[in-house]
Amino acid sequence: MVVRIFAHALAEFMSNDKSAVVSRGRTVRRNAVGLAVRHGSLAVRVVVLAIALDLALLSQAQSQMPLPQPDPPAVDGPAIATDARLAGDDKQTRLVIDISHKIDMRAFALADPYRVVIEIPQVDFRLPPDTGEHGRGIIKAFRYGLVMSGQSRIVLDLTGPVRVTKAFVLDPVDGQPARMVLDLIAVDRDTFLRAAAIDNHLPRPAERGPAHFDREEHTTDSRPVVVLDAGHGGIDPGTRAPSGELEKDLVLEFASTLRAKLEATGKYRVMMTRTDDTFVELSERVRFARQQQAQLLISIHCDALARGEGEAEGATIYTLSDKASDAEAERLAEAENRADAIGGVNLTEEPTDVADILIDLTQRETRTFSNRFAHLLMGEMKSTVRMHKHPLKSAGFRVLKAPDVPSVLVEIGYVSNKGDLEHLVSEGWRSRAVASMGQAIDAFLAKRMVTAGPGN
Ligand code: ZN
Repeated sequence: MVVRIFAHALAEFMSNDKSAVVSRGRTVRRNAVGLAVRHGSLAVRVVVLAIALDLALLSQAQSQMPLPQPDPPAVDGPAIATDARLAGDDKQTRLVIDISHKIDMRAFALADPYRVVIEIPQVDFRLPPDTGEHGRGIIKAFRYGLVMSGQSRIVLDLTGPVRVTKAFVLDPVDGQPARMVLDLIAVDRDTFLRAAAIDNHLPRPAERGPAHFDREEHTTDSRPVVVLDAGHGGIDPGTRAPSGELEKDLVLEFASTLRAKLEATGKYRVMMTRTDDTFVELSERVRFARQQQAQLLISIHCDALARGEGEAEGATIYTLSDKASDAEAERLAEAENRADAIGGVNLTEEPTDVADILIDLTQRETRTFSNRFAHLLMGEMKSTVRMHKHPLKSAGFRVLKAPDVPSVLVEIGYVSNKGDLEHLVSEGWRSRAVASMGQAIDAFLAKRMVTAGPGN
């Protein structure tokens, strides 16, 4: 059995050609090894043998130990990913993911930072908890998740430029699951950029459309629109508490509670940039607020300090500025702006900021409103929520860059701080916090309605 599977696995790794899959006996094993030896460099052989052996042993273990079979997944449901393995070295690296049935996959490389993105239909990832945290060879780490309903993505962080030499899915065979296989080789930057220019046909965000946004039919509702932006989502979890809570979940919960609070007043139309665990690009969040002609955008996040970076606690309110108010604000904006890179967005295709004098003027006015709201918010929040010792800061957050929508980003607390985390998961704290935010929103929009008139 082992020999058969070893030969089988070896054949898979030498070629994607099904005719190379051989079935039984010692001769077969010798032939297959001979094939590997003739086929290429020592590195290739080592990788191939290691993976073939890995698969052979794995499958032997499985064949000896009849696992309790969970309900077999319906082939028309999302495929289930159950395991992932890396093999290889800093010249070439292979990623293999076991999956319940065959799916389509497409892989392409991105620069700055170097990444490979694998686009696949929606997959239910049931991988071991630390999967992707530790890399091997060219792959530093990888993550995976939903990017929109029906579509998942795997993003690999790389040590340098690569070429995708193979990306294919093997049929399930001999009781083994189907497998997604990705092969990367290290190349120089020029080779990489040339290949990337040819390979990348990723549809632009605008072409994909905001299918996963809070949808609202065309409306004659003239109430002011408040857009609530729960940070991160899907493939991008944001920060993680030592006890495992994820920023993306905490902020969605918070934003949903705030939405309910605001809607209960009947004064506003409240829209959210995401209402489920989906990845949304930063520029799409901004575009959405502008499309809705929002009077206010509030982006909700949680911060964290790594072990050894000291202790910090409390909520902080951020507005946009070209120059960060302090080093911590700068670090945070950089971290939050990495969301698109984490989600596998091609940053080099982002349109450059339009430098237009009118936009500039609008933006200046918008910033004044943003600052006014930030002050109001602090005045209300400080009575109910523990605030950071410097609660008002500014930095270059991309999600705050709508030129015509007053925008603030609230870090509602530190998941790295025990006391803050207790608040963040507490319903009582949440309802007090959103109540004070509601007061600030009331005060801000009441004044704006008077000075600017409705519809402005
Ligand atoms: Zn965040």
